[in-house]
Amino acid sequence: MYPDRIFSGMRPTGTLHLGHYHGVLKNWVRLQNEYPCYFSVVDLHALTTHYESPEVIEQHVWDVLIDWLAAGIDPQSATLFIQSRVPEHSELALLLGMSTPLGWLERVPTYKEQIEKLRERGRDLTTYGFLGYPLLMTADILLYRANLVPVGEDQAPHLEIARELARRFNNMYGTEPGFEEKAQDAAKKLGGKRAKLYFKLRTAYQQEGDDEALEQARAMLHESHSLSMHDRERLFGYLEGARRVILPEPQILLTEASRMPGLDGQKMSKSYGNAIGLREDKTSIEKKVRTMPTDPARVRRTDPGEPEKCPVWQLHRVYSDDSTKEWVQQGCRTAGIGCIECKQPVIDGILAEQQPMLERAQPYLDDPQLLRAIVANGCDKAREAAQETMREVREVMGIGY
Ligand code: SF4
Repeated sequence: MYPDRIFSGMRPTGTLHLGHYHGVLKNWVRLQNEYPCYFSVVDLHALTTHYESPEVIEQHVWDVLIDWLAAGIDPQSATLFIQSRVPEHSELALLLGMSTPLGWLERVPTYKEQIEKLRERGRDLTTYGFLGYPLLMTADILLYRANLVPVGEDQAPHLEIARELARRFNNMYGTEPGFEEKAQDAAKKLGGKRAKLYFKLRTAYQQEGDDEALEQARAMLHESHSLSMHDRERLFGYLEGARRVILPEPQILLTEASRMPGLDGQKMSKSYGNAIGLREDKTSIEKKVRTMPTDPARVRRTDPGEPEKCPVWQLHRVYSDDSTKEWVQQGCRTAGIGCIECKQPVIDGILAEQQPMLERAQPYLDDPQLLRAIVANGCDKAREAAQETMREVREVMGIGY
C-alpha cells in the first residue's frame, strides 16, 4: 500500500479571484497540513483548449503561483510545481493511451458538450489533444500515486475515468510474467471444487481488489490440510502476487461546494465579469461593491427590501458576523438602513481578508527570482516522485531497459 498523497491542479488562467480562494485555495491551505500535497499549474491542459494563444501562458503561470502563495500555500509544506516542467506527465499520458479504448474518451460526460459549445463560438476543438485530455488528467494524478483528489460533488464523475484507467492498467500489467501458469499448476493440487473456488476468489481479488475475497481464499488455503505446508505457502504467494498495484486508484476527497457569489449573485467567474481579484486594489474593490445591484424593490431609500433578493446579502453571508447579519435583515426590511451603508461591512470584510494576502505576495512581486527558486525546487521534488513511478511503469510495460 502506498501512503496517502494529494494531487490537485489548476489551469493557468491568470490572476485568481475570491471564488478561487473560497472554492479551492482555502481547502488546499488546510490539506497541506494534513497530507503530503502536490499542487500543479497544469499548463499543458491550457494548450488542449487554447493552443492558438501560447503568448499568454507564461505570465498566467506566474500570476497563478503568486496567488497560491498569497492565499497561504506554504512551499515548506506542499510541493508547488509546473506540469510541463515534469515531462513524465506527458510520457505517462502517452503510455496510458496505448491501451485506452477510444470509446472511453468519447463518452466522457463533457467531451461532446464542450466541443459543441465552443464550435458555436467559432472555436474548433476536434483535436487529438482535447480528446486525450482525460489521459493527461489521469497521468497527473497517477504519476504521484495520489490516492486522494479533492473535488467538489459536481466534478466527481471526471475522476471516474482516472479510476477506470488505473484499474485497467493494474489488471493488465500488475501480474508477474509466467504467474498464471505457475499458479494454475500449484492450484491443481487443491483438486476439483476447491481449485475452482480458489480461482474464483483470486479473480475477484485480482480484478476488483476485493479484500474480502482475499481473506476467504486465505482461510480456505489455511484449512486445506491435504496440501503440504510448502504447497500452501506457494499458493499464498500466488494469491498475493495476483494483484500488484502499480498505480493506485484515486479516491475522491469530497470538498464542500463553495458558495462564493459574484457581484451579480451568480457564481463568481472571470468570464461572467462578476469577479473580485485576490489582489485587486482597494479603490477598485470599493467601486465594484458600491455599484453592485441590490433588491430592485428598493428604488428609494425609504422603500423596504428583501435581503434574499439581493446579491449583497449573499456576500454578507460570507463576510459578516451574526450581529451584522441581523442588522442587515432588520434594516433592509424596515428601510432602516440604506444600501450604501449596508455594503460597507462587505467592503471592510473583503479588504480585511485580502490584507494578509497582499503582504504574503509582496516579496515575490519585489523579487521574481524568489518565486522562480521556489518553483524550481518544487519541480525537482515532483520530478523525483514522478521518476520513481515511471521506472516501474516502464518496467511492467516492457520498456524498462
Ligand atoms: Fe441589499 Fe442591503 Fe440594500 Fe437590502 S439594504 S437591498 S440587503 S444592499
